[in-house]
Amino acid sequence: MPTPEHVVIIGNGVAGITAARHIRRISDKKITVISAESDYFFSRTALMYVYMGHMKWEHLKPYEDWFWEENRIELKKARVKKIETASKMLFLEAEEKMSYDKLILATGSVPRFLGIEGEDLSGVQGLVSKQDLELLEENTRKCRSAVIVGGGLIGVELAEMLHTRNIPVTMLIREKAFWQNALPLKDAQFISRHIESHGIKLMHETELKKINGQNGRVRSIETSSGEEIECDLLGISVGVKPNIAFLEGSEIETDRGILVDEYLQTNVSDIYAIGDCAQHREPIKGRKDIEAVWYTARMMGETVAQIICGKPFKYNPGNWFNSAKFFDIEYQTYGNVSANPEEDEQHFHWEHRDGTKAMTIAFDPASSTFLGINTYGIRMRHEVFDRWLTEKRDLEYVLRHLRQANFDPEFYDRHEKEIFSSFKENMMKPQT
Ligand SMILES: Cc1cc2nc3c(=O)[nH]c(=O)nc-3n(C[C@H](O)[C@H](O)[C@H](O)COP(=O)(O)OP(=O)(O)OC[C@H]3O[C@@H](n4cnc5c(N)ncnc54)[C@H](O)[C@@H]3O)c2cc1C
Repeated sequence: MPTPEHVVIIGNGVAGITAARHIRRISDKKITVISAESDYFFSRTALMYVYMGHMKWEHLKPYEDWFWEENRIELKKARVKKIETASKMLFLEAEEKMSYDKLILATGSVPRFLGIEGEDLSGVQGLVSKQDLELLEENTRKCRSAVIVGGGLIGVELAEMLHTRNIPVTMLIREKAFWQNALPLKDAQFISRHIESHGIKLMHETELKKINGQNGRVRSIETSSGEEIECDLLGISVGVKPNIAFLEGSEIETDRGILVDEYLQTNVSDIYAIGDCAQHREPIKGRKDIEAVWYTARMMGETVAQIICGKPFKYNPGNWFNSAKFFDIEYQTYGNVSANPEEDEQHFHWEHRDGTKAMTIAFDPASSTFLGINTYGIRMRHEVFDRWLTEKRDLEYVLRHLRQANFDPEFYDRHEKEIFSSFKENMMKPQT
C-alpha cells in the first residue's frame, strides 16, 4: 500500500482544526497539527469567561482529549521556526525537523503594539493567547487601576473582565466614540454610553502619548491631551495582525498577511494559508482582504480541506455576518453597514429610549435595496437576513417582515409601530 500523503497544519486554532477534521472526514491522509500555544484546541472567543470565573479552562475545549487519537489527528506541541519550501521541510525548536507533502499555515494573529517606548514594561500587555490570559491573571493580582488603549472588540472584553474584579478602568479611544472605525457614529455613540453606564471611564478623541515606568513596571501613562493617569496595568488593544514573522526569509509571499488566491493557495505549490493569517490577493467584492473573525477562519478550514482532497472549489464566504457582546448588549451585523457610508448607502438608525436596544439599517437610496443591518440588544435570525441579502430585498420589505427575523416576536409586537414611524420621520429628513 502506498504511504498516505502527509498534511501538516501549523496552528491548532479554529481554522487549522476545522481543516484537520474535514480532511479526516473525507480522506485517509496522515494529518499532523503543530501548535506552540496549547496542547489542545480551545475556543479563543471564550477566553474572557475563564478570567471572569464563568468557565474553567477545560470547558473551553470543544472536543474531548481522546478525540484526536480516535480520529488519527496527530498533535505536536512545538514552535515552527523555519520552513524550507524546496525540501518541504519544517524546522522546529530543539533542532527537530518534520517533512510534509502538503502544508497548511493557520497561524492566527498576534496583538498589534504601538511602538511607543515603555511597551516592554511589565504590566503592559495585549490579549490574544492563553499565555496573555495567564499574564493578565498575574498582572492584575494587586492591580489598583487600569488603562486600556483602543476602542475595539478585545478592548471592551478586557474592560468587562477587569470590571468583574472591581478594577477601575479608563479607556483611551482615538475616535469620537467606541469602535467608530467599524460602526456608524450613532451606533458607536450608543455603545459608548452603554459602556460608560457600567462605570468604565471613556476618554474619546484621546491617544496614548507616553508610558511611565518605575522599577520595570508601568506606573502611569500620559495622554495626547496632556493628562497623566496612574495605572498598574496597561492593556493594548489597538487591533491584531497576522502572525507571520517566522516566515521572514522564506519563499512564501507575504504582505500584511500570507497572500493567497481564491483557492487559498500561496505562491508556493502545496502550501496554503487560512484563517487570521491569510490575506486574499483579490478579496470578494465588499469584503476585506484580511478578515480576522471566527466564522471565516472556520469556512476557510472547510474549504481548504476540500481543495487538498482533490475537490477544488473557490473560497466563498457568502454574506458577511458577525456578532459580539459589549457588556450585556449583544451586537449582530449582517451584510454591509459602513462606518462612513458613501452616497450609494443611506442609514436608518433607531434606538429605544431605555438605551439598551438599537438598530441601524443600511440601504441603497437609489434602488431602496437592503444592504445590511446592525442590531444591539435584539437577537436576529442569521438565516433570514442571509436570505434577504441574497434575494436583494428592498428596505420596505425588510421593515415589514422584521418580525420573521427576530428571536423575540414580542419585541416587534411592542416596537414595530415605533420603528416604522421613526423610519418615516427620519427618511423624510436628509441624513446627518
Ligand atoms: C479575546 C478575543 C476575543 C475574540 N472574540 C471574537 C468574537 O466574539 N467573534 C469573532 O468572530 N472573533 C473573535 N475573535 C477572533 C477569533 O478568535 C479569531 O478570528 C480566530 O480564533 C482565528 O482563528 P485561527 O485558527 O486563524 O488562529 P488562532 O486561533 O490564532 O490559532 C493560531 C495558532 O497557531 C499557533 N502558531 C502560530 N505560529 C506558530 C508557529 N510558528 N509554530 C507553531 N504554532 C504557531 C498559535 O500559537 C495559535 O495557537 C476574538 C479574538 C480574541 C483574541
